Amino acid sequence: MPTELLGQSAAELRALLTAWGEPGYRGAQIYHALHAERRFDVATMTNLPAALRARMAAEARVTLPRILRRFESRDGSIRYLLALESDADGRPASVEAVFMPEENRQTICLSTQAGCAVDCHFCLTAQLGLIRNLTAGEILGQVFVALEENRAGPKPQTNVVLMGQGEPLLNYEPVMTALGILLDPNGVALSPKRVTLSTSGIVPGIERLGTEKVRPKLAVSLNASTDEQRDAIMPINRKYPLGTLLDACRRYPLRPWERLTFEYVLLGGFNDTPDDARRVVRLLSNVRAKVNLIPWNPCELPYRPPAPESVEEFRRILTEKGLPAFIRFSRGQDIMAACGQLALIETQS
Ligand code: SF4
Repeated sequence: MPTELLGQSAAELRALLTAWGEPGYRGAQIYHALHAERRFDVATMTNLPAALRARMAAEARVTLPRILRRFESRDGSIRYLLALESDADGRPASVEAVFMPEENRQTICLSTQAGCAVDCHFCLTAQLGLIRNLTAGEILGQVFVALEENRAGPKPQTNVVLMGQGEPLLNYEPVMTALGILLDPNGVALSPKRVTLSTSGIVPGIERLGTEKVRPKLAVSLNASTDEQRDAIMPINRKYPLGTLLDACRRYPLRPWERLTFEYVLLGGFNDTPDDARRVVRLLSNVRAKVNLIPWNPCELPYRPPAPESVEEFRRILTEKGLPAFIRFSRGQDIMAACGQLALIETQS
């Protein structure tokens, strides 16, 4: 079985090349070619000796996810359905990634698991259950596919959000390996200010992330102002209720430039009243936070969008109490770019 090179850290590639009887710096050259130069064909790594390239062609490989389908939105977003090869246990999978161009930047939304076990009731991915964890190479490969596909018009700045299928903190090691390469100045060299990991509120994962030297920004999917409400749409709240979750958020070691982001999907008639807004203010007191308010994007699930006046009133209450709040509309609504929707359609068809 050829050795997969994508997803290996610089240290792992050095160790591999040393084990092959090569100088360790050859591993660093390969690492640079893959991640900084995005050269995925060993034949193009012409700074390596021909004999080494021949051995790599025979004994190693670089596997990018294969595009099964692409859906282009009127707003310019492109959603990819990607086929992943079988993992070590022989399980193939498909996931989705979304490329969102903006004026001066592009944002790429990645999946970290195929399906998800967390079972948020407003999320179509939840209906798949967990199919399998992605490897570091499969997580990283989604960034490269999106960038390669859009090579013609890349903007100077790339943002990455881990908000696609899966709960990143329940696939911790592969996610952190992929993030280490994305954030490594000798790797993909993204700024930690431009990479966001979003969690449903896995408290041990939040605590562990806080101990990492290299880490992205953290976003927590809040979506409710009381435990009763959150229990009804996010069963994970029974394991890590709001008090426990927000204690962990208060202890989280924010860097001087950083705020914790709280995502709040506004579901019409469920969690969008002024009282909800006032409770959110109280919940987030003593957390350096900002809130992204996301009006519900209608789909087949039994929720309805909030009235525009309720969205504006919610935002006003938060900002008047000194809690920065922004209204974010989902990109690619016409191509169902919200979490997990494509995978479910494909599974059902
Ligand atoms: S919202 Fe995220 S964590 Fe919740 S079920 Fe969907 S993919 Fe999983």
